[in-house]
Amino acid sequence: MRCFKCRAEPMGICQFCGRAVCEDCHGPMPFILTIFTGRNDIPKAVVTADALWCGTCRPQPEPIPMPELY
Ligand SMILES: [Zn+2]
Ligand SMILES: [Zn+2]
Repeated sequence: MRCFKCRAEPMGICQFCGRAVCEDCHGPMPFILTIFTGRNDIPKAVVTADALWCGTCRPQPEPIPMPELY
């Protein structure tokens, strides 16, 4: 398997679309694992900041509100 952009050795698979990406081509995007409601009814998202993203696909059509902005 090769990076779908530059055909280099891939470092992993995009968490959203499943394409292989190398270290130079992947992009930073938090991967939201789950969203839950806490005691104060403030939605919280559990994310992994180091999730692999190919930098091309669009996992969400709209930006997701982040509870950290409260
Ligand atoms: Zn690449
Ligand atoms: Zn992708």
